[in-house]
Amino acid sequence: MDKIDVVIVGAGLAGLSCAHVLARHGVQVVVVERGDFPGSKNMTGGRLYLLPVKNMASDMLDGAPFERKVVRERWTLLGSGRSVSLDHTAERFREEDHSYTVLRARLDRWLSERLMARGVFVIPKYRVDDLLWEGGAVAGIKAGPEEIPAHVVVACDGVLSFMAQKAGLRPAMAPKSFAVGMKEVRELSEEKINDRFNVEAGEGAAHLFVGDVTKSMFGGGFLYTNRDTVSIGVVAGVNALMQKSPAVDAPMLLEMFKERYEMTRILEGSKIVEYSAHVIPEAGYHGVGKLCGNGILLAGDAAGFALNMGVTVRGMEFAIASGMIAAETIIQARESGDFSESTLSDYARRLKENFVMKDLEAAKNMPGYLENESFFSYYPETFPGLLEKIMWFDENPKGPLGKTLWDGLKSSGMLSMKRLLELYRIRKI
Ligand SMILES: Cc1cc2nc3c(=O)[nH]c(=O)nc-3n(C[C@H](O)[C@H](O)[C@H](O)COP(=O)(O)OP(=O)(O)OC[C@H]3O[C@@H](n4cnc5c(N)ncnc54)[C@H](O)[C@@H]3O)c2cc1C
Repeated sequence: MDKIDVVIVGAGLAGLSCAHVLARHGVQVVVVERGDFPGSKNMTGGRLYLLPVKNMASDMLDGAPFERKVVRERWTLLGSGRSVSLDHTAERFREEDHSYTVLRARLDRWLSERLMARGVFVIPKYRVDDLLWEGGAVAGIKAGPEEIPAHVVVACDGVLSFMAQKAGLRPAMAPKSFAVGMKEVRELSEEKINDRFNVEAGEGAAHLFVGDVTKSMFGGGFLYTNRDTVSIGVVAGVNALMQKSPAVDAPMLLEMFKERYEMTRILEGSKIVEYSAHVIPEAGYHGVGKLCGNGILLAGDAAGFALNMGVTVRGMEFAIASGMIAAETIIQARESGDFSESTLSDYARRLKENFVMKDLEAAKNMPGYLENESFFSYYPETFPGLLEKIMWFDENPKGPLGKTLWDGLKSSGMLSMKRLLELYRIRKI
């Protein structure tokens, strides 16, 4: 069988974006996907930050089935039995195409249908088992008895990327490099969403939670508004789950989260329509290893391009950008017909000039900083507790407000050297 130009493993955002650019330049490309259809195995929280990729993506996302424009940001410190929230909005969020909530089953399928309409083969229910090799270079893929020989393979097969491992580009990673997320999509009418989240039609909210939602383990909870559904979920570090004593059943975290007073009114009358669980890369910049070999490139989660910034999670725009940059690298290499590692390594240079590696590098200390258990236990317990003291009135005489606050800060240890050093370290993340 003759070699085709490129075979892409995985029809997620990285794979589809890569195929989009290749097809636009007339490069022969096949995308293979193990799921029943593109989007069926893909999961996100999720909100897509559009601005970083808007220019690059140009027409690719025109008319995309986004859910709602995020105009309201909320963060909640969830203590046991109390919480405190911050609610932020800005005119800019409403005026610009900053970020949108998405459902992957809808978005990825739509992208793949557009590609297929342009003649690209996107083959679902096709699980790649291995790579083909030729003289030390990757030369295509194997799926059961079938083979697809290709000049280049782009591994866009997600966070656990077996293709990257088979190509010797990524060693097996430690549990602390991953978190696991459980999510429900729950049906709720558009009107109820607008009312409960205080947004106009078409507008939405992104709400993150930290603290009791993970029983003080590394991770957090999320709530995103879609058109007529909400996405609610919990993410917990794999290492934290393994070390938790007594052990916690990860899916139970989501059940307990939904039962919190803070959630019951928001979710009242909603009905589950989808459940999913997925792994997330958590190592950030330090989790990015080799990005290419002879005849192979990695993009998206397969390359480790995801960023937990504490107040938000970014991965989808990294997947889109890296998929497109992989395609541009291949188009350049194709001019000389040389797909060796040394030629394809231009991919790393291109990524360094783009927000992908710049933002990952800027946040390189974040995973280490987030290892500090205080963020998931001490602060979410202390601040709501402090506010409760200030807001509680009973038959006992109320002391002066400032003194109540000061005494609370002192007795909680908030003014200790340990806490002040923790705050001081913020400048490095
Ligand atoms: C709980 C959770 C919340 C998140 N929240 C956000 C968020 O709010 N915002 C954000 O930007 N990011 C978020 N992320 C991260 C984001 O979803 C990912 O970074 C993004 O989906 C990566 O896209 P991808 O195309 O690289 O990988 P994926 O979407 O995982 O696609 C990989 C594809 O490869 C296929 N595949 C795998 N192996 C094979 C094989 N052997 N043969 C054929 N096909 C194969 C899979 O079926 C899949 O379709 C979140 C992730 C999780 C899990």
